[in-house]
Amino acid sequence: MASKVRLFVDHPLAEGQTVPLEAAQAHYLSGVMRLPMGSVISVFDGRSGEFDATLAQANKRGGSLEIGAKTKAFMPPPDLWLCFAPIKKARTDFIVEKAAEMGASRIVPVLTAFTNSERVRTDRLQAHAIEAAEQCGGTYVPQVAEPVKLAKLLDGWPEGRRLMFCDEALVGESGALPDAPGPWAVLIGPEGGFSDTERSRLRRLDHAHPVSLGPRILRADTAAVAALTLWQMRLGDWQ
Ligand code: SAM
Repeated sequence: MASKVRLFVDHPLAEGQTVPLEAAQAHYLSGVMRLPMGSVISVFDGRSGEFDATLAQANKRGGSLEIGAKTKAFMPPPDLWLCFAPIKKARTDFIVEKAAEMGASRIVPVLTAFTNSERVRTDRLQAHAIEAAEQCGGTYVPQVAEPVKLAKLLDGWPEGRRLMFCDEALVGESGALPDAPGPWAVLIGPEGGFSDTERSRLRRLDHAHPVSLGPRILRADTAAVAALTLWQMRLGDWQ
């Protein structure tokens, strides 16, 4: 049986409710997926779990869903931010998509000294995070924050959150992730790596833990996936 279409709806969900569809969502369900009225799909709102929903109306202006039984409890990811320096567009899209699939709770584009990417379209990146959540069966959608300069991010760093500083200068050396539960963030630099000034500031921070991602230099998108895997296996919800 083909797996049910899954749709994120930014609307609180509860059994018996009627939920409006935006025009693009109605077009996707009836135009692209060619679902007849009465079809049952899965919907989630990122806060209350996943529900069955019956397609009641779909036209050029929008449509509506009738919400049925809850099929999956809400499962928030661990409190883990992915902070990364944006790179070329397609690879930045990839990083955001993987972060959503791999259980980051928040995604923060960070502008560092050597970040050389064009403007970051936060609305497009948020749409990628939503698509990834729809595809991977997650009931949570990480928020993609507005880009922030590294110095400003560190100046306002939240009390109690540890920072997994993926430092390419540790390539080939040891730099293990401490076994410390609680809120964390992963930090991945740009293609050009971190500047000496950035590295010395980061290494002075009590809450920052310089970590090696092995004996080879990884591309930033590879490093993001490797770091999220390492953290989830060690401290997250993959055990
Ligand atoms: N231009 C840098 C160089 O040649 O040394 C490489 C930067 S790398 C392409 C991008 C980011 O991925 C780095 O800033 C770091 O955060 C992470 N990274 C890549 N390889 C790593 C490693 N072996 N250990 C720790 N972090 C790594």
